[in-house]
Amino acid sequence: MALSAEEREAIRDSVRKICAEFPDGYWREIDRTSAYPQAFVDALTKSGYLAALIPEEYGGAGLGMTEAAIILEEINRSPGNGLACHAQMYTMGTLLRHGSEAQKRRYLPKIATGELRLQAFAVTEPDAGSETTRLKTRAVRRGDRYVINGQKIFISRAKQSDLMLLLARTTPYDELKNKTEGLSVFLVDMRETGGGLEIKPLEMMFNHHTNILFFEDVEIPAECLIGEEGKGFRYIIDGWNAERILVASEAIGDGRWFVDRASNYAGERVVFGKPIGANQGVQFPIARSYAHVRAAALMRDDAAAKFDRGEKCGAEANMAKLLASEAAWEAANACLDAYGGYGFAREYDVERKFRETRLYSTAPINNNLVLAFLGQNVLGMPKSY
Ligand SMILES: Cc1cc2nc3c(=O)[nH]c(=O)nc-3n(C[C@H](O)[C@H](O)[C@H](O)COP(=O)(O)OP(=O)(O)OC[C@H]3O[C@@H](n4cnc5c(N)ncnc54)[C@H](O)[C@@H]3O)c2cc1C
Repeated sequence: MALSAEEREAIRDSVRKICAEFPDGYWREIDRTSAYPQAFVDALTKSGYLAALIPEEYGGAGLGMTEAAIILEEINRSPGNGLACHAQMYTMGTLLRHGSEAQKRRYLPKIATGELRLQAFAVTEPDAGSETTRLKTRAVRRGDRYVINGQKIFISRAKQSDLMLLLARTTPYDELKNKTEGLSVFLVDMRETGGGLEIKPLEMMFNHHTNILFFEDVEIPAECLIGEEGKGFRYIIDGWNAERILVASEAIGDGRWFVDRASNYAGERVVFGKPIGANQGVQFPIARSYAHVRAAALMRDDAAAKFDRGEKCGAEANMAKLLASEAAWEAANACLDAYGGYGFAREYDVERKFRETRLYSTAPINNNLVLAFLGQNVLGMPKSY
């Protein structure tokens, strides 16, 4: 059942209150020391908001995509960043949609309480980035086990997760008639993989807990398979719209943060005897990015509402991600410009958010591929791949 506008505002207020406990200095120090924001994630887990999308019958809050979007937008609108824990919110969607009842009963209630962390989502490989159907990590069935060998890259929060959703090849590519088949999804309990799984942290442009994963004869029980063998690519695609909407929401939150900071600073900083914000060269880029952030939010709202009504929302979810990531980046640049040299000083937090928000144009999917989806699948133009 859809919530009223007042109920949604109450969620927004409540998330704001939690975020207010974690001010600029907390996130700056987490960034400086490349730490994981455990205290923040614990507070959010305790609030139940990370279980927003888990139905009540499995112990979650049973909220919709619209509410999940509000939660992540507010986190990024604060000094914080939802990337640290957003996957706990939506990675379980594949299990929810395609898992057996026994799997759902076994895992979802514990994911809802945070007792089990499902934050790792392993798709990308060194030789298969955007071209997911080319991935090579093999899962070979041997009796009641699967044996996994291969390599994954950019797998975020693998060290802050108990479970990992893994996409692996169960049929060799050359043996397939339909190249989108032959991949399968597994829910891997990383606490039980023994020494065959090596997790190697990868240093990134900002504080993001990303890793290279090496699988060497990692044995997992056959019951880890989600849904049917060979249908994994389809299952993963089913989760993409939710991910696009939520990532768009984080970018919108960042965009609002940049606009707020920039407009406040531009109103206060006096140069040549007047506030710099009185100059159109400073004021207009901020105003323009504000308009673009608001427009992106409307597209995101449309996508989330369609998602919640069970309607097709691929075009809207992709457009929301495209527009939001571009608007956030525009606002980031307007803010950095307004701050002048201070924008580069760590103590103002602009440079940190600037580094963080650049990601949304590149991952989880590059904006080029979003444009290709719109051009090819929505507008029917010729395909590049
Ligand atoms: C911080 C971070 C966290 C991540 N976390 C995860 C994670 O948890 N799990 C996971 O599985 N992956 C994760 N990723 C990986 C991310 O999803 C990939 O980077 C992304 O899918 C693109 O793959 P790639 O980097 O190999 O780029 P490539 O596929 O090598 O593409 C490189 C460039 O070429 C462009 N390009 C390729 N083909 C076309 C075409 N036909 N038309 C136009 N342009 C094209 C792309 O758009 C891109 O700009 C993460 C990445 C980052 C940076």
